[in-house]
Amino acid sequence: MTYKRVLLKLSGEQLAGSDGSGGINPEFVGWLAKEIKKVTAAGIQVVIVVGGGNFLRGATFAGHGIDRATADYMGMLATVMNGLALKDMLEHSGQPTRLQTNVHMNQVAEQFIRLRAIRHLEKGRVVVVAGGLGKPYLTTDTASASVALELGCDVILKATKVDGIYDKDPNKFPDAVKLNAVSFQESVENDSIMVMDKAALGLAMEQNMPVIVFRLGEDDNILKAAQGEAIGTKVS
Ligand code: UDP
Repeated sequence: MTYKRVLLKLSGEQLAGSDGSGGINPEFVGWLAKEIKKVTAAGIQVVIVVGGGNFLRGATFAGHGIDRATADYMGMLATVMNGLALKDMLEHSGQPTRLQTNVHMNQVAEQFIRLRAIRHLEKGRVVVVAGGLGKPYLTTDTASASVALELGCDVILKATKVDGIYDKDPNKFPDAVKLNAVSFQESVENDSIMVMDKAALGLAMEQNMPVIVFRLGEDDNILKAAQGEAIGTKVS
């Protein structure tokens, strides 16, 4: 069963690629743009919520005279930098794209407006949402649950480095087994499941918004997840 409208959550670290140098890896983002284009080419509408952890995370940056709220606003600005890069690279690969943000910066991005975002999607444009929800003490995971609900998405595709959720930490336990499906209850209660913020999972659970955790870095994986193929782990 293919989905009609998906929300793809990309963390900032993913845009940095695998060489660990931080920032934005243009080669990787170029590849990513082509992968996303495959999804819209299949007639599936795509909303992207982008993180900013490749530049800054508020919770770790705060301190030494920098207030947590200030650090969080800096983190939101980091997501806008990623959003700008993603938008241009999608456009250059031939995919019409709009960047909307919940932090107001009219020169560089549209304000996030629900009906306008939906109109873009209906016209086949990708909508990249940056700035999270525009408020401190939140993450872009929580923003993705909220935006997915607000824009009527069918599913959240949470792109990660791992290929799904395991019964225990696969880095520590060689006999760890990948799970194809996990309940919301389990994913919220089990502390070893750290693929997504608990607040985000809680909201998804409350509203019954399924989440698919899958590995980003392989050809066609986003398309497969968006088409409902058995990939990664489905939390529902
Ligand atoms: N942030 C925030 N409110 C939001 C979304 C994000 O304050 O609604 C800040 C927060 O400091 C966060 C940073 O922006 O650490 C970057 O987002 P996130 O950590 O979710 O990025 P990711 O880990 O996905 O790269």
